[in-house]
Amino acid sequence: MPFTSLGLSPVLAQAATLMGFTVPTAIQTEAVPVILSGVDVVGVAQTGSGKTAAFALPLLHNLQRDHTSPGESPRRVRALILVPTRELAAQVGEVIRSLAQHLPNPPKTVIAFGGVSINPQMMRLRGGADIVVATPGRLLDLIAHNALRISTVATLVLDEADRLLDLGFTEELNRILALLPAQRQSLFFSATFPPEVQAMADALLRTPVRIEVAAEPGSEDAGAPLILQRAIEVDGKQRTSLLRHLVKENKWDRVLVFVATQYAAETIAEKLYKNGIFATAFHGALAQGTRTEVLQELKDKRWEVVIATDLAARGLDIAQLPVVINYDLPRSPTDYIHRIGRTGRAGESGMAISFITPESEAHFQLIEKRQHLQLPRERIEGFEPAPVDPAMLGAASTSPESPASPANGGIKGKRPSKKDKLRAAAAAVGLPKG
Ligand code: AMP
Repeated sequence: MPFTSLGLSPVLAQAATLMGFTVPTAIQTEAVPVILSGVDVVGVAQTGSGKTAAFALPLLHNLQRDHTSPGESPRRVRALILVPTRELAAQVGEVIRSLAQHLPNPPKTVIAFGGVSINPQMMRLRGGADIVVATPGRLLDLIAHNALRISTVATLVLDEADRLLDLGFTEELNRILALLPAQRQSLFFSATFPPEVQAMADALLRTPVRIEVAAEPGSEDAGAPLILQRAIEVDGKQRTSLLRHLVKENKWDRVLVFVATQYAAETIAEKLYKNGIFATAFHGALAQGTRTEVLQELKDKRWEVVIATDLAARGLDIAQLPVVINYDLPRSPTDYIHRIGRTGRAGESGMAISFITPESEAHFQLIEKRQHLQLPRERIEGFEPAPVDPAMLGAASTSPESPASPANGGIKGKRPSKKDKLRAAAAAVGLPKG
């Protein structure tokens, strides 16, 4: 089925084709006509299933249709897209810009996120904007600086909506919602909507249409990502060695590893690096410039291993990322879905491995239960866990390698900088580093 049959203008259908999208994905097929009709939507579809274009295409279509006064100045913000992380703001903004560039009256899209100077973003907002893609905190800062007004927004999108509706963002989101017109279209998208968040979403939406192209990650349903999920039993202290062994043994050229803390990300990346693997850390305590670089370098296949906190769990689209590893288990089944969803995107296959320590076995069983999963426990020769006395198992799963220490706490000594590492990577013979 072509994009035009969804009700999109030929020029937008053509824009999708130019992006390499030949046929709409399931969520696009379902959501586009409904969004075009102007109603509120809750869109639930697996990670990597094309949700961004599912809301971006009809949003652009409606903007073009309502474009009554071309060249109007200043432009009024007609669409606001909120996302939970800076990297996702950049990614979603780029998709919208790419799709919009072929339109006769391309809308002006401004991307705004924190951690970088506000001035360039204020400059870009001069003369107004049609579409703003932002993280909540920076949006509020820009509003406080009188850099934009959002009272003219016709469409609000919450991407990774359940994350934006959870406690961490409540205050900021409420302040933003208070500034939006009551008369608007709201579109909430995510791969997950825990019941407690669903109730909040319902309170914010007007008779929403719920569109669910449901399939658990890894299921056999058509269009579902093909993520092979595995669980490997290992002692906490052996995890770094096992990780190194797996990377070497399988010759993986790109692995995204999730840990519980920023400190763990730093220390494990450091250990791997000292052991001959091009590894680096990605977490919220890094400067925004470094965060952006690391992500781009991961996409460019310059790092073999990136050790990340849950900052990287949501939405990031890294093509051909073959393996995701839960070194530390995620806190919730929801986080599990988002983490493993970094692999197996856009119909590719991928592998997600969880390290199960004796201390985390019970927690993993809870995740499995909620995901209706039952993974066989594997053991890797040479890394089998030692027999344990069940009475010795504490409640928490901490190990000397991933203590719940504060950001950067306890990192000592001279460590090679990211640049040093990349230089060494580039110098290494036979490795395809940039
Ligand atoms: P998203 O879920 O929006 O992050 O999209 C996941 C991946 O699917 C991205 O790499 C998109 O470029 C790709 N994608 C989105 N829509 C389509 C489509 N209709 N056909 C092929 N790939 C798509």
